[in-house]
Amino acid sequence: MKVLVTGGAGYIGSHAVVVLLEAGHQVVVLDNLANGSAEAVARAAELGGGAVPLIEGDIRDRPLLDRVFSEHTCDAVMHFAGLKAVGESVEQPLRYFENNVAGTLTLCQAMAQTGVTRLVFSSSATVYGDEHPLPWHEGLPTGTPSNPYGRSKLMVEQVLADLAAADERWQIGILRYFNPVGAHESGRLGESPRGIPNNLVPYIAQVATGRRESLAVYGNDYPTPDGTGVRDYLHVMDLVEGHLAALQALGRRQGVNVWNLGTGRGYSVLEMVRAFEQACGSKVAYHFAPRREGDVASCWADPSKAREELGWQTRRHLAAMMADTWRWQQANPEGYT
Ligand code: NAD
Ligand code: UDP
Repeated sequence: MKVLVTGGAGYIGSHAVVVLLEAGHQVVVLDNLANGSAEAVARAAELGGGAVPLIEGDIRDRPLLDRVFSEHTCDAVMHFAGLKAVGESVEQPLRYFENNVAGTLTLCQAMAQTGVTRLVFSSSATVYGDEHPLPWHEGLPTGTPSNPYGRSKLMVEQVLADLAAADERWQIGILRYFNPVGAHESGRLGESPRGIPNNLVPYIAQVATGRRESLAVYGNDYPTPDGTGVRDYLHVMDLVEGHLAALQALGRRQGVNVWNLGTGRGYSVLEMVRAFEQACGSKVAYHFAPRREGDVASCWADPSKAREELGWQTRRHLAAMMADTWRWQQANPEGYT
């Protein structure tokens, strides 16, 4: 297949490029480089052993999309492009809805026009809200995400469901990620946050290299075994292998299909710190800070639907997530820049 990867210069998209190439697919990347890097695409192409054209442009640019689809006969789209910083989405909601929701509408319009109707979309466990008992499974009703970023994901899910109901050509996979972490085993690809990292593992990694002084652990009074937040962390390579499995499964499926991508077990913030210390062989300084607004105490996936329907499950354990993050961080202390 020939697959258009939007956001392929970003963290998850660049890892997806590698597994797509390794599986024998052709790849075209469209990315506006708002948070991505051309170097990531070049390295992904090298690791995957293929040539990958990078089109520097925006999913909101309809004439550009029409040109891309006419120049490249694509069979499917993996749609990673989006803005993802929760705090920023609270400050700039219009920018987030315009980029993530309006951008996806434009993409889908261009796809429908050219008859490319197989789509894998990056959603998030945040669409479950925080009202449900654990673990979260796809049969649960969606809830109310606590910020505009999460709501943009929920809105897109709703748009995609309506689209598939109206036009039976669509084959859509909505993948609800839990907490992707880690890096490609080579240490050549990884997460390259701009500025101060928002997420736990990139922050820990920067404390370990001495770039940041101490990790603020947001809350130690949650109803969890050690009082710190619990999340279902999965290795980014497992995550992108899930995308590959979804892409293939969609060939046999109509309409919208929702799959959780997670491991099914949670780790606390302190367990993550200890696991990273094991990987890097030194202490990671941390201090307790107040809870972060909008955070839930715990969340982890019921991944059984993906296992049954996609034949996919995570293979890499926490030690590998941390060792691979550390290898990437040491080799690229400033990211791609
Ligand atoms: P990322 O920021 O590293 O990658 C996103 C890429 O999309 C970037 O390269 C950026 O330049 C590009 N982009 C953004 N807006 C664009 C636009 N309008 N046109 C073209 N390109 C655009 O983020 P990531 O962690 O790789 O996340 C990929 C997707 O997965 C996002 O949609 C994100 O919301 C979703 N997701 C991520 C996580 C996570 O923890 N990383 C969790 C759940 C869902
Ligand atoms: N967290 C933390 N300090 C940080 C970043 C995150 O204690 O600097 C905690 C956060 O409160 C949550 C967990 O780590 O319990 C995972 O947060 P992250 O932002 O990585 O992912 P989220 O689950 O919010 O999408």
